[in-house]
Amino acid sequence: MQNHTHNVLLYYLYTPIENPEEFAAEHLAACKEIGLKGRILVSEEGINGTCSGTIEQTEQYMDMMKNDPRFAGIVFKIDESDGHAFKKMHVRPKKEIVHLGLEEDINPNELTGNYLEPEEFYKAMQDQDTVVIDARNDYEYDLGHFRGAVRPDVETFRDLPEWIRENKEQFEGKKILTYCTGGIRCEKFSGWMKREGFDDVNQLHGGIVTYGKDPEVQGKLWDGQLYVFDERIAVPVNRVEHTIVGKDHFTGEPCERYVNCANPECNAKILSSEENEHKYMRSCSDECREHPRNRYAFEHGLTGAEVQQRLDALKETAQS
Ligand SMILES: [Zn+2]
Repeated sequence: MQNHTHNVLLYYLYTPIENPEEFAAEHLAACKEIGLKGRILVSEEGINGTCSGTIEQTEQYMDMMKNDPRFAGIVFKIDESDGHAFKKMHVRPKKEIVHLGLEEDINPNELTGNYLEPEEFYKAMQDQDTVVIDARNDYEYDLGHFRGAVRPDVETFRDLPEWIRENKEQFEGKKILTYCTGGIRCEKFSGWMKREGFDDVNQLHGGIVTYGKDPEVQGKLWDGQLYVFDERIAVPVNRVEHTIVGKDHFTGEPCERYVNCANPECNAKILSSEENEHKYMRSCSDECREHPRNRYAFEHGLTGAEVQQRLDALKETAQS
């Protein structure tokens, strides 16, 4: 990006933080003072953040963090941007910075998979007897993923351990490669895989974000785009070729545009063209279209009778 004015930072560190509540309050005040916007989680196990600001603001923040001995080893992934990527600034104390739903938690500083740098990961992916596991949520995979990667049949990351146990045979005796957005989820997940008894467990160091920036690899073997948790939603990874793997929820046509289902109780992330968003009332199912608090109906001032008309029209087209 030429003449960019802002940066978007992504970072984490597993490091002991005493009294996360107090830390969160102080950190929030410091971030607001600087002028940052974003979302930061803190817990006794560490920090996990993404935030945006002008180049000067983000530099000031990185200096502040690096001068704090608790965060000495932190690595910032920096994306150039021409504005903020968030509307507000939140710093939240949590029980864990990554929730894998384990009965007994993993401390990645004690147990984690072998780190592979982008070039090593690129090569290892192409070996026979390698299995690549996507350690993210299903909607993230659906927008883009490494070619041939396993898409665990789980809605969220915390269901992953159970799914792995149920599908164990698929991975036994293989070289296992795991990846996620910035690397934080794999730190725990790959450690858990090792504890489960898999020997050859490897993780993409720095995640997909770092892989996409590597000057040698240039994001090769990545298909689609990367789902990110800010207003940009989708960012490119593969600098050599761009294939679209996302499919419109309604028609199956190639699509990389995410919307949230208008039923506030569903809120599912669905890929949809602008045209289909209107045609299907931005709702993933008939049930969601008929929901009494459907946001699309509310935004467009549709009466109950008008919603019914739309539903009938959709049913007719479906039958013809
Ligand atoms: Zn829905």
